[in-house]
Amino acid sequence: MRLSRERLRGPLAGKVETISGQTLSSCYQCGKCSAGCPLEDAMDVLPHQVIRDLQLGREEQALAAGAIWLCAACHTCAARCPRGVDLSRIMEALRAVRLRRGLGPPDQTALPGEAPQQLLVSFLRKYVG
Ligand code: SF4
Ligand code: SF4
Repeated sequence: MRLSRERLRGPLAGKVETISGQTLSSCYQCGKCSAGCPLEDAMDVLPHQVIRDLQLGREEQALAAGAIWLCAACHTCAARCPRGVDLSRIMEALRAVRLRRGLGPPDQTALPGEAPQQLLVSFLRKYVG
């Protein structure tokens, strides 16, 4: 697929950048974020793939990812990222867009059986408000 400014700056990508304060084009898909993510086993889409979907204009795919609800905002990815991208803010922005559209988590999004405590706390924050 050919990359173009239009694809990189689709409406959802622009909105996510505004809400998150992150620059999607900074990510060069090295995968270091996903390799260090404690929840990557439970995620349907890996964290760096969520960014890729946004970079390529696959907006519905990015919004439908259960991974955005499983992110525990632990910031491990941000600490590992050589480009200074804070993925938890991108995940949070995608959740905000879904909620503003009157949508919650996709039906298949479930808490993994052996969840780290951090995820339990973040789930409570997301679902109890
Ligand atoms: S670590 Fe940073 S640059 Fe590498 S894939 Fe993740 S967000 Fe992109
Ligand atoms: S902040 Fe979210 S995406 Fe990043 S490492 Fe933690 S759980 Fe994974």
